[in-house]
Amino acid sequence: MGRKLVVGNWKMNGSLDANAALVRGILDGLPEAVGTQADVRVAVAPPAVYLAQLQALLQGQTLLQLAAQDVSAHAAGAFTGDVAAAMLAEFDVRYVIVGHSERRKYQQESDAVVAQKAAAARAAGLVPIVCLGETLQERDAGQALAVVQRQLQAVLTQPGVAVSHLVLAYEPVWAIGTGRTASPEQAQEVHAALRRLLGDAAEQVAILYGGSMNAGNAAQLLAQADIDGGLIGGAALKAHDFLAIVHAA
Ligand code: 13P
Repeated sequence: MGRKLVVGNWKMNGSLDANAALVRGILDGLPEAVGTQADVRVAVAPPAVYLAQLQALLQGQTLLQLAAQDVSAHAAGAFTGDVAAAMLAEFDVRYVIVGHSERRKYQQESDAVVAQKAAAARAAGLVPIVCLGETLQERDAGQALAVVQRQLQAVLTQPGVAVSHLVLAYEPVWAIGTGRTASPEQAQEVHAALRRLLGDAAEQVAILYGGSMNAGNAAQLLAQADIDGGLIGGAALKAHDFLAIVHAA
């Protein structure tokens, strides 16, 4: 993998005012953080109701792209509360996170639903960022690799998903929002396993790490051979911290 990808997942945080200030702060420092090579891609994923606001704020620049946090598995119809991939595309959304562990847990999203969402994203020309990761219990039981393999397999066998237009994010559940980051070696082990499972297209797929990544630990994680970027939660809510991670990429 050549270029790195850093995505800020704002989760259910923000307001019109806070978003405007955060985006302004990121855009101000982004040219310097990205550097002259422009060898890092950067995106932010606000709550869906703010996509129109972000689209307007990001107009006229190319360094910061838009991502969504979720998408419906369906193209249109009687699905109250859901947002279709084609609707996201209308707001210049480029990436969409699917299968985040918080949605798997709180919305009971199964591997099958996550795979369908990835296919729906592709059908509308979006790049799905598929989140994979084991719980602490699963890791302690020695099942980490088996769990991410099962989660990945569901997506790879889903009709309509093209490996060449896929981003993976390894987010160990025990590292999310806990301040307990996976060690670079722990993360690299899983990333390398995922890369092997991708087969021929492996080199085209960015595999991000997520889980308490911050300005202090990003460089070490991103230096691993198979870590191609980061999916950032808490540290993406402060322009200074987010930019430091982009700079480390
Ligand atoms: P934190 O960076 O807050 O641990 O969240 C990671 C995450 O879930 C990104 O999607």
